[in-house]
Amino acid sequence: MRQLRIAALAVVIVLAFGGCATNPSGRSQMLLIGDAQVNQMGLTAFNQMKASDKLSNDPAKQRYAECVTRAIVAQLDPAWRQLPWEVAVFNHTAANAFALPGGKVGVHTGLLKVATTPDELAAVIGHEIAHVTHRHGAERISQGMAAEVAMAATQAYVGRKQSPEEARTALALLGVGAQIGVMLPFSRLHEREADVAGQMLMVKAGFDPQAAVSLWEKMHAADPARPPQWLSTHPDPEQRRESLAARVNELRNLRDAAVTRPDCTVPSGSAP
Ligand SMILES: [Zn+2]
Repeated sequence: MRQLRIAALAVVIVLAFGGCATNPSGRSQMLLIGDAQVNQMGLTAFNQMKASDKLSNDPAKQRYAECVTRAIVAQLDPAWRQLPWEVAVFNHTAANAFALPGGKVGVHTGLLKVATTPDELAAVIGHEIAHVTHRHGAERISQGMAAEVAMAATQAYVGRKQSPEEARTALALLGVGAQIGVMLPFSRLHEREADVAGQMLMVKAGFDPQAAVSLWEKMHAADPARPPQWLSTHPDPEQRRESLAARVNELRNLRDAAVTRPDCTVPSGSAP
């Protein structure tokens, strides 16, 4: 009975908010939650984190993260570019970063100690932003395992309040699991799409695609047993490195044609 109710509600949600869409990689997606709803969830999560986590008070780090993010965002399609993009630098030792639907980017100070060049930081931010433009969060919320979360998230905007547990799961599905202690890794397919599109984005913005490979190697060497979330969620890390490396030569030709060369100043104190 409960199942039937969920199925019926899922149908209502599809009719109300969407259905099938094609993502930037050309893959068809079933989306049960619309951009407006998922962007609102991203904004709520971001505001919560800004209120409860420690923000860096180093303006040089803030400028640096904004500079790299701005260069990447400038290469997005207009519909994505026009979002109210915002960057926050959190004082956190984990070498991590995230991007939320609605255009909200978080960078941990710990990442700046590993990603020591603008190119390497661009590799991470490009990857995270590609998750957003591929609507991976919305897709995960829409998938069968999350049918109830999709309903709860959607209903939250038509009156019913989410329970704290539903809210946490919804945020984990958006890709901020590490922040809230619920790990729901992106799938291999989502990671591959974000890797390919993210590396392309960084190149169009004028960054060196080899940095995606060197950063991967540094992260892996730093702590093979406990890699950061954005690395560990990939089910086949060695193959990931090979794929990133295989695209470098071709992408470097494209980078030579890029009109911009971002000039982002690395803040002092970010060296390992
Ligand atoms: Zn990822």
